[in-house]
Amino acid sequence: MTTILVTGGAGFIGSHTVIELVKAGYEPIIFDNFSNAKPAVLARIHKICGKRVPCCFGDIRVRQQLETVFKENKIDGVIHFAGLKAVGESVKKPLEYYDNNVNGSRVLLEVMRDYKCSNFIFSSSATVYGEPDKVPLTEDSPVKRANSPYGQTKIDIEYMAEELQRAIPEFSVTLLRYFNPVGAHESGLIGEDPRGIPNNLMPYLTQVAVGKLPILNIFGNDYPTKDGTCIRDYIHVVDLALGHVAAIKHCLNQGGVHIYNLGTGIGYSVLDMVNAFSKAIGRELPHQFAPRRAGDVVQCYADPSKAARELNWKAVRTLEDMTRDSYNWQKNNPNGYDD
Ligand code: NAD
Ligand code: UDP
Repeated sequence: MTTILVTGGAGFIGSHTVIELVKAGYEPIIFDNFSNAKPAVLARIHKICGKRVPCCFGDIRVRQQLETVFKENKIDGVIHFAGLKAVGESVKKPLEYYDNNVNGSRVLLEVMRDYKCSNFIFSSSATVYGEPDKVPLTEDSPVKRANSPYGQTKIDIEYMAEELQRAIPEFSVTLLRYFNPVGAHESGLIGEDPRGIPNNLMPYLTQVAVGKLPILNIFGNDYPTKDGTCIRDYIHVVDLALGHVAAIKHCLNQGGVHIYNLGTGIGYSVLDMVNAFSKAIGRELPHQFAPRRAGDVVQCYADPSKAARELNWKAVRTLEDMTRDSYNWQKNNPNGYDD
C-alpha cells in the first residue's frame, strides 16, 4: 500500500488527482485548509470512487497540523497542490502569497525531511518560463524572473526543493509544470469552482454559456498570432491528474530532480476556444474584443515529449472533450458546490 498525502486535495486539480490515485490503487490522504474549496467536494469524490478518502483539515504553514498526519500515517510521498493561485490577487497581496506558498512549502518540506518522507511532487507552472523566446517550450527552456508574485513563488519553491534534494541525495523531487488546466470530471460531479468572477478563460466561457455572465471580453486581438489573440496549451484536468499518477509510478524512491512539462503540445487561440465552445452549445457564444490584459504572454505551449518518453504519459483528451466536460459541470452545478 502506497500512501500519498495530497495537499490541496480538495481543490480543482487535487480532487481530480485523488480520484485517479484511488483508481490506480494508491491510498491518498487529503490535507486542505478549504481556503479555496468546499467540503461538499468530499462526498462527490466518495461517490465517484465508491470509497471515502480520508481528509485532514489543516494548513501547510502550521507545522503541528502537518506533523499530526505524519505521526499517524506512514506517508510515502506528497503531491503538493496547496497554494494560492490568482495572479492578479498576488500583485495586490504579495506577502500573503509568499507566506502561503513559499513559507507553507518550506514547512511542508521541513516536516517531510524530519519524518523521512523523501518523495515530493510539486504543482509548478509554465509561468516559470515567462515570455518564451521560442515555442514549444521544453524543460530546458530558460526559467525567467516572473512577472507576478504568484509566478515568482513557483520559481522559489522549485529552487527550494532542488536545494533540499542537493542536501539529501535520496530525496526525490518532481516538478510538474502545468500548462492551462481546463475541463472537469466526465461525471459532472466535480469541476472548477472559482470564487466570484473568474479570471481564467474557461470558467469565464462556461459562465457566459449558462447566462451567469453576459459576454466574454477577449483581451487583445492585435497580437502577432494567426488571428490576433493569445495562444495557450489547454489540457484536460483528467489528463493532468493522470500525469501525476504516471509521475509517481516513475519517480517514487528514485532520488534526484525530475522536471516535466504537462501539456498537450497544441496551441489554441482565444478565438479557437470561443469557436469550440460555440460549437459545443450550438449557438454563438457572446464575445467582444477588449484591450490587452497586462502581463499576458503572447503564446505558450509545451513540448510534452519528455513526459511521453520517460513517464509513458500523454494527454489524450481533445478540445471537444474539454469544452463538453467544462460545460456539463457548469450546467449541472450553476453555483458550483453550493448547489
Ligand atoms: P485550487 O485553489 O482549486 O486548489 C488549491 C487548494 O489548496 C485549495 O483546495 C485550497 O483550499 C488549498 N490551500 C490553499 N492554501 C492552503 C494552505 N495554506 N494549507 C492547506 N491548503 C491550502 O487550485 P488548483 O487550480 O487546483 O491548483 C492546484 C495547484 O496547481 C496550485 O498550486 C496552483 O498554483 C497550481 N497550478 C494551477 C494552475 C491552474 O491554472 N489551475 C496552473 C498551473 C499551476
Ligand atoms: N482571456 C480572455 N478573457 C478572459 C479571460 C482570459 O481573453 O476573460 C485570455 C487571456 O488574455 C489569455 C487566455 O485567455 O490570453 C488564457 O487566459 P487564462 O487567464 O485562462 O490563462 P493564463 O493567461 O494564465 O495562461
